[in-house]
Amino acid sequence: MINFEYARPSDVAEAVRQVAADPRAKFIAGGTNLIDLMKKDVERPPRLIDISRLPLTSVIETPDGGLRIGALLPNTDLAYHPLVEQRYPMLSSAILAGASQQLRNMASTGGNLLQRTRCYYFYDVASPCNKREPGTGCSAVAGFNRQHAILGASEACIATHPSDMCVALAALEAKVHVVGPTGERTIAFADFHRLPGIEPQRDTSLGATEIITAIELPARGFARNYTYLKIRDRLSYAFALVSVAVGLELENGTIKEARFALGGVAHKPWRDEDAEAALRGQAASEVIFARAADLSLRNAKGLSHNAFKIDLARRAIVRALGQATRATPQSQSNKAIR
Ligand SMILES: Cc1cc2nc3c(=O)[nH]c(=O)nc-3n(C[C@H](O)[C@H](O)[C@H](O)COP(=O)(O)OP(=O)(O)OC[C@H]3O[C@@H](n4cnc5c(N)ncnc54)[C@H](O)[C@@H]3O)c2cc1C
Ligand code: SF4
Repeated sequence: MINFEYARPSDVAEAVRQVAADPRAKFIAGGTNLIDLMKKDVERPPRLIDISRLPLTSVIETPDGGLRIGALLPNTDLAYHPLVEQRYPMLSSAILAGASQQLRNMASTGGNLLQRTRCYYFYDVASPCNKREPGTGCSAVAGFNRQHAILGASEACIATHPSDMCVALAALEAKVHVVGPTGERTIAFADFHRLPGIEPQRDTSLGATEIITAIELPARGFARNYTYLKIRDRLSYAFALVSVAVGLELENGTIKEARFALGGVAHKPWRDEDAEAALRGQAASEVIFARAADLSLRNAKGLSHNAFKIDLARRAIVRALGQATRATPQSQSNKAIR
């Protein structure tokens, strides 16, 4: 491990001042991703700015009926918060589908958004990787790419975003509040994570000298007709091969509002507005779910080891939409609606 300096600012303004003084410095919150990356020599920050004790752990109701969640609230506390369980159960389910209890106790809300890909080559400093070292090439394209992207990838990088929580936040249309040297700004969740393009080293639109202070949930929580379906190699403690977060609003069997986001398939949680639009105004049925799934996957491309994900995603979307329609979010059944 290389030497690094350590600082613990007492407020957000001081944290921003410290990172602005050396943008190669890194904030550390729960440390569950950053410390691993440092041990493996993937990240080499000269200075760690410990934000774990900043007072950013509150959950506050907003005037328009939503919730503002502090960026340092542990994932466990967020998942089990009574207002989140009641009004945003899709978010609770997604968080509890991730990692382990011990990790969720340490992991913070802001850190979860910024966790890095689980591409094996990214963690192996002996392998070329454009995300870790721009311009060196991508070992996964012609290598073992079973967990990699089927949507939105580029020639430079085919990595996926590993978070479960972020898939639900995408479907809920959360906002990310950040503070930087020039003040505060708010980023729509859809614009927070990036596709790799020719700059795969940049995962998000967050500036190097900005700190996440809060996540805001809008009033609409899809508390009745929702699900988070995660398909993985083991039943627990494994990242998603494919996951689907669904929120529906139904009236007499007709879909009034529909959201669904996919995890494990792209460099960011994947939403497709055309696929969601195809559900609105329609009677809920397997036929219409399959049409939405096909639309959502119309540009999917498989590689040597991950082509199976296209059919897996298609079936997962149909199943998840069925679970949400029946209000049976944990059901293992793939029973037809009609
Ligand atoms: C074995 C294992 C299994 C896992 N399984 C899953 C899983 O199945 N699903 C899943 O979703 N996740 C999984 N995780 C990932 C885990 O959820 C993340 O590691 C965690 O959410 C990161 O949060 P943290 O607070 O520990 O971040 P840290 O490690 O402290 O930081 C991560 C990054 O975020 C930056 N950062 C942190 N907070 C802020 C902030 N407020 N503002 C700006 N920058 C910030 C840091 O500088 C760093 O770059 C797993 C992790 C491990 C180790
Ligand atoms: S997929 Fe991305 S993270 Fe993985 S080796 Fe290629 S460039 Fe690196």
